[in-house]
Amino acid sequence: MCQYCLCNINKVTEEILKHTKSCEYPRPDVSFNHICFTCDYHTYMSESMRRHIRKHLGEKPFVCQYCLLTFSRKDRLNSHVKVKHHIYKSNLSGISIVKK
Ligand SMILES: [Zn+2]
Ligand SMILES: [Zn+2]
Ligand SMILES: [Zn+2]
Repeated sequence: MCQYCLCNINKVTEEILKHTKSCEYPRPDVSFNHICFTCDYHTYMSESMRRHIRKHLGEKPFVCQYCLLTFSRKDRLNSHVKVKHHIYKSNLSGISIVKK
């Protein structure tokens, strides 16, 4: 629920992100381009707001493409992929190498 207009928002990052921009709350300047639905946070950048919303939702945005486990951090996903699936991503080419 939005603290400003008290409307219900789906607990989906993209839905909330849209609302942080479209909410009727009056914006004093551009740094209020996106306003958080539940705390004082506000930002001009939609990317920053997306990250911020995820913190509230406790989402795990990183999904292992091999077993569909979810992780809250990219480095955790990467180490999982290495350990469980023995797949190493080359930083230079971005090509996956499967170790046999
Ligand atoms: Zn609102
Ligand atoms: Zn917030
Ligand atoms: Zn996996």
